[in-house]
Amino acid sequence: MGSKPDVPSFQAMILEGHEFQREIGTHVLKMCGASEVIEAATGTEAIAFLETRSEPLDIMVCDLNMPGMDGLEFLRHIGLRRSGVSVILASGMDADIIRAAEMMARSYGVKIIGTVQKPLSEGKLLPLILMHFGQSLIPPRARAKAMPVEDIRAAIAKRQFEPFFQPKVHMHNCQIAGVEALMRWRHPTLGLIQPGSFIPVMEANNLISEVTFSLVEQALTACSQWRREGLDTTVAVNLSVDSLRDTTLPDKLSNMVASAGLHPESFTIEVTETVAITDLGHSLETLARLRMRGFGLSFDDYGTGFSSMQQLTRMPFSEIKIDQVFVTGAARQDVLQALLGTIITMAKRLRLRSVAEGVETEQDWQVVARLGCDVAQGNFIGKPMPANELVTWYHNWMGTHQSVAGE
Ligand code: C2E
Ligand code: CA
Ligand code: CA
Repeated sequence: MGSKPDVPSFQAMILEGHEFQREIGTHVLKMCGASEVIEAATGTEAIAFLETRSEPLDIMVCDLNMPGMDGLEFLRHIGLRRSGVSVILASGMDADIIRAAEMMARSYGVKIIGTVQKPLSEGKLLPLILMHFGQSLIPPRARAKAMPVEDIRAAIAKRQFEPFFQPKVHMHNCQIAGVEALMRWRHPTLGLIQPGSFIPVMEANNLISEVTFSLVEQALTACSQWRREGLDTTVAVNLSVDSLRDTTLPDKLSNMVASAGLHPESFTIEVTETVAITDLGHSLETLARLRMRGFGLSFDDYGTGFSSMQQLTRMPFSEIKIDQVFVTGAARQDVLQALLGTIITMAKRLRLRSVAEGVETEQDWQVVARLGCDVAQGNFIGKPMPANELVTWYHNWMGTHQSVAGE
């Protein structure tokens, strides 16, 4: 995961009145895989170019506010000319205005891939471009700096890895639906280190399984403690490929859960598609056995893979977690809402619980709620926190959402 999928080579145009913004746009389009980027400062210039060009252009990024002919007028022109170019609208304006422009452009027969808020960035354009080419939607995640493996080994011995917990809540009543354990390294001098800097190193050096078991242990202890404090909830842990190859995993986990006085139903395993399709035979056996024992099984980062739908029907999942690329900022992008709607409907049809990840704002919440998603997770609800802060978070959250919860 994390590497950029192949984008077919494509030719692009950036139509942007502001010189500096235009340069940024060109740069970003090249980072997204454009072999050629034609720059136009005005609609007239762009039209003149399109008239003289023999090969069609693939993608065009069009600013809505330009001097002279504005974006709307330009879109009408290319709609009438049936130029065949697919357009990404960019603007610094209100989401409502962009949406109106998008609808207008479609009514003129212009193919609109989607809209983005300026300033342009690879993170905003790439998902749309990938979608346009029918490719995977793996977001261009920034690679964190890897920590040295020797430091990691020493830290494992000193038990410096611990879970933080991020709550998930039911959208219909705001009640807690579970927590996800996310690994953190409490480094004595560097402070708290995020998983991007050490999980890939652990995975590459056969260290992840050992640490995962310690994490599960700590998560179960936390779960029993919350119960004693009156908060009865379930916990989810992320598993890497290595752990799933171990066919004794279901036995080990069952024993650990039982020793903590809990049931498999209060424990969920999250796996990504990469995990599920690597070494398919063994993974399937382990996953099926876990499910038979009653553990929850969650398909993580749904939508970023290549054959997600196929995996869903083949694997015994109980839940899908819709990746953040579809959720964060969905209120401003119709395309994302359409995709979200499709995923949620499909989850319902397959009787799977849908969880939206990356709910960062109230607007994100409203979009996923309207589309019928079951559960939400994200910074709007609560950031990952140490075990001893969860109960306080819960009381605060229920305090501010009591009205919804009581409905
Ligand atoms: P993930 O499983 O997809 O976990 C969700 C990530 O999204 C977490 O990042 C979480 O902090 C972040 N997140 C949640 N809500 C929001 C939001 O509203 N906005 C934004 N911007 N981010 C949000 P984190 O904790 O850095 O973990 C990153 C990844 O590291 C995880 O992605 C998971 O793949 C991996 N990971 C974490 N803990 C473990 C572990 O114990 N074992 C394994 N194998 N992988 C782990
Ligand atoms: Ca996860
Ligand atoms: Ca995820």
